[in-house]
Amino acid sequence: MEVGGKKLNVVVIGGGFTGLSAAYELARRGVAITVLEKEDKVGGISANFKVNGFYVDKFYHHFFNSDEHLIRLAGEIGFSDRLRYAPTKTSVYIGGNFYRLSSPLDVLRFRPLGLVDRIRLGMLVLRARGISDWRHLESETAEQWLIKRCGKRVYAVVWEPLLRAKFGSFAREVSAVWFWNKLVLRGGSRNAAGSEMLGYIAGGFGTMAEILADKIRMLGGEVLTGSPAESLVIENGCVCGVRTSEGTIDTRAVIATPALPIIADLLEGGETKEYIDSLRRIKYMANVCLVLELSKSLSDIYWLNINAPDVPFTGIVEHTNLLPIEACGGRYIVYLSKYLERDNSVYNMNGEELLEFSLPHVKRIFAGLEREQILGYHVFKSPYAQPLIECHYSKFICPTETPIRGFYIATMAQVYPQDRGVNYAVRQGRQAAEIVSGNHGY
Ligand SMILES: Cc1cc2nc3c(=O)[nH]c(=O)nc-3n(C[C@H](O)[C@H](O)[C@H](O)COP(=O)(O)OP(=O)(O)OC[C@H]3O[C@@H](n4cnc5c(N)ncnc54)[C@H](O)[C@@H]3O)c2cc1C
Repeated sequence: MEVGGKKLNVVVIGGGFTGLSAAYELARRGVAITVLEKEDKVGGISANFKVNGFYVDKFYHHFFNSDEHLIRLAGEIGFSDRLRYAPTKTSVYIGGNFYRLSSPLDVLRFRPLGLVDRIRLGMLVLRARGISDWRHLESETAEQWLIKRCGKRVYAVVWEPLLRAKFGSFAREVSAVWFWNKLVLRGGSRNAAGSEMLGYIAGGFGTMAEILADKIRMLGGEVLTGSPAESLVIENGCVCGVRTSEGTIDTRAVIATPALPIIADLLEGGETKEYIDSLRRIKYMANVCLVLELSKSLSDIYWLNINAPDVPFTGIVEHTNLLPIEACGGRYIVYLSKYLERDNSVYNMNGEELLEFSLPHVKRIFAGLEREQILGYHVFKSPYAQPLIECHYSKFICPTETPIRGFYIATMAQVYPQDRGVNYAVRQGRQAAEIVSGNHGY
């Protein structure tokens, strides 16, 4: 787009999967694109780091065979051969014991519940799959919906601890829609024999993000890392520039993809107070992951939900039970994941403090773990890891188009009724690009 003989780029703020997908879609249509990414590499929450020379996700990631947007994008950028599937085991830790919860048979054998409650638990998943209109779930909390469908005992033993582990003091506010969606997605990730199958990316999701960034560059776009957007230039209700430490980039359109509170900060000081307040309305949970590089496997479980209030993790994910250990530099990779509020003292611990804090709990669960088996550890934090999906969330969602002309937002908090995930980040980014394209005649 040329204005007064000057070429104006569309600026995409954020080089996670949403921003890169938006930029790729626009670059494919011949639009001049600049992606500004604050960190020194692309990928956002899906970025990677190196373990013994091999790339591994900073935060554990898998995909489902129903993730059509992710799978299609991988095909378009010549990356399909890196998408692989493997059988996985999901379990839950309750009262000092592990219980498998991967298959219907596992549910029938689930000892913490009596037979009638086991059947109610199993039926819940089947019934959830039969629900197609999520709108009538919007007025119920997950707690109300679950108690109604499986009774208080099943809720107290299985679901309440999970909700508390993920949403802390907000657990009772989570909408039934969020929960229903989780049940449907997880229940659907099975092969023909009914076993749980999950997808992984050889080289990690961060490698796919890097390849996507390369494609954008090949199409003539710019992807600038270590380049945070500092604020927006808004004149007469219209965005016309993005300020960075290197100067202002003139633009006709901006797509912002970081979390809503970050976008609100970028807009602060302007004349859009009411809009800024609406962006700050959505609450988020933060996440901290302590990643252990081990010389020995903890168990054969990929995903362990922790239903023990005295254990301070949401889950323990042994990544190398999904992908081969050779892909992780010969080290067993375990994520100790905790969702929490940003002002929680655990979130603010440094690596050493977090390791010291976590080890006694891990050793209690996996008695065989010895200190010398820990070959390395890393800590990654995401301040806005999970939007809190409350009742009637559809009323709070901010649309892609904003009151500021030329300014668009595409973020994980707008993914609904589904929950955030890379598949939906791709969809969100491409949809935003479509809207920008239509509005600006690209
Ligand atoms: C612990 C954890 C596990 C997960 N596991 C899975 C999984 O197994 N499968 C799955 O599909 N999804 C998973 N997700 C969700 C998935 O990671 C996200 O949905 C997805 O990465 C969101 O992408 P995004 O681009 O919307 O946001 P982000 O990845 O947050 O990207 C936003 C980008 O904006 C950048 N930014 C911020 N401020 C500025 C600024 N001022 N200027 C420029 N850039 C800025 C950030 O650095 C970041 O790169 C997981 C998330 C977490 C927290």
